[in-house]
Amino acid sequence: MAYDTSTWEAVIGLEVHCQLLTKSKIFSGASTTYGAAPNTQADAVTLGLPGVLPVLNATALEMAVKFGLAIDAQIAERCVFARKHYFYPDLPKGYQISQYELPIVAKGHLDIELPGGETKRIGITRAHMEEDAGKSLHEGFVGTTGIDLNRAGTPLIEIVSEPDIRSAAEAVAYLKKLHQLVVYLGICDGNMQEGSFRCDANVSVRRKGETKFGTRTETKNVNSFRFVEKAIEYEIERQIEVIESGGKVVQETRLFNPDTGETRAMRSKEEAMDYRYFPDPDLLPVVVGTAEIERIRATMPELPEAKKTRFMTQYGLSKYDATVLTGEAALADYYEAVVKTSGADAKLCANWVSGDLLGALNKLGKDIGSSPVSAAMLAGLLVRLADKTISGKIAKDVFEAMLAGEGGSDASAADAIIKARGLVQITDEGPILKAIEDVMAKNPQQLADYRAGKDKLLGFFVGQVMKATQGKANPDLVNKLLKEKL
Ligand code: ADP
Ligand code: MG
Repeated sequence: MAYDTSTWEAVIGLEVHCQLLTKSKIFSGASTTYGAAPNTQADAVTLGLPGVLPVLNATALEMAVKFGLAIDAQIAERCVFARKHYFYPDLPKGYQISQYELPIVAKGHLDIELPGGETKRIGITRAHMEEDAGKSLHEGFVGTTGIDLNRAGTPLIEIVSEPDIRSAAEAVAYLKKLHQLVVYLGICDGNMQEGSFRCDANVSVRRKGETKFGTRTETKNVNSFRFVEKAIEYEIERQIEVIESGGKVVQETRLFNPDTGETRAMRSKEEAMDYRYFPDPDLLPVVVGTAEIERIRATMPELPEAKKTRFMTQYGLSKYDATVLTGEAALADYYEAVVKTSGADAKLCANWVSGDLLGALNKLGKDIGSSPVSAAMLAGLLVRLADKTISGKIAKDVFEAMLAGEGGSDASAADAIIKARGLVQITDEGPILKAIEDVMAKNPQQLADYRAGKDKLLGFFVGQVMKATQGKANPDLVNKLLKEKL
């Protein structure tokens, strides 16, 4: 941290726009699929043509409620859509349908873990439903701007935190936790590059001990965790410098430039009254009854925190292993399938999934969903390791072979590779004894040293025997026989 944290304190509140994973738009049947040719998904409602009426997408509402339940918030029995007016070419109606006084979700919270290990609770003021705007296109246009309205009308929830965050690192921890949660809930694809999850950072600073908040700036649409961290760090330092040199921070909207790591002023901050909010007369108030809430609650998946705790108790995993393995629901499912199918030790399975498998996927640039080694295939391998058909070292080779596509793509892939390559572990004493005698004959000096008391040389002999048997000798047996012979 480049500023003096004993004199200055940062105050941060985040607004996150999260695209809901519905098939159609929030107020019409037009598709929300990303990447279609410009304006092929802009129907009459999206275009705001005269005479059309919006109809609320029931799935979008259900997803917003799910989010509210997951953060332990109040779900409004009755919430209202409002028109937020502003002029911009990507907003054909001249207003955005949002929620203002009566949002669907209020007063929730999310717990984050600080680097020291303690937990901190971040309040979530509200989460409201709204429609996304379209996009301006500049690339490939000279002297004009293109407008693509495919994104216009995509359902969003805007999640507004309390100003409870005190550093860029806390902001990133909060965002990651929130990101993990909405992806777990299946309400957002979490794709930050495509803009499915984007963040506005409100930042102010004050002298330590001061109880009033300072004037804040809002840095818009930062779309990666690293950029959020950089933008906030920059803003904190900039504001401190302004104040220390006798100036005043101006309340304004700023833009982050990823190339320079700096923020710059974009426009002076608009106030709520500038938007001329009023309830949208085209949409009825939304009423969500207790029975409906309970029905939705029953469809909630197991959430990350609960899953992590369960992994620790059910599988005896460390907090660290449980955190890694529950990072994504698909990874957690994969792990549980491996344990269940292989019947192998849960900790051994954890090491393979979080170590070998994740390492390999990382190298390949693939995620768990597109892993070339399925849970059934890895389980097939671990069965052979557990029943001692192969040694740990050979298991690594078989895994590499599976990754490369050898052995086919079903549960018997490991067996096929073991058979084809002749990798079955040698558990007969005969061939191992023969290898031991050869190694002893070839290394008289080491043998003499060992016998003179240099115990550490045992490892050398084990290594030589394993090498002589192409790694196939049972290591326990090698150790036992070597000790006898040496
Ligand atoms: P607006 O709708 O104008 O953006 P809000 O009152 O809804 O304003 O606040 C938006 C965000 O700004 C919230 O996340 C809130 O926690 C945060 N915030 C409010 N005041 C401050 C402040 N002084 N410093 C930092 N963040 C703040
Ligand atoms: Mg705002």
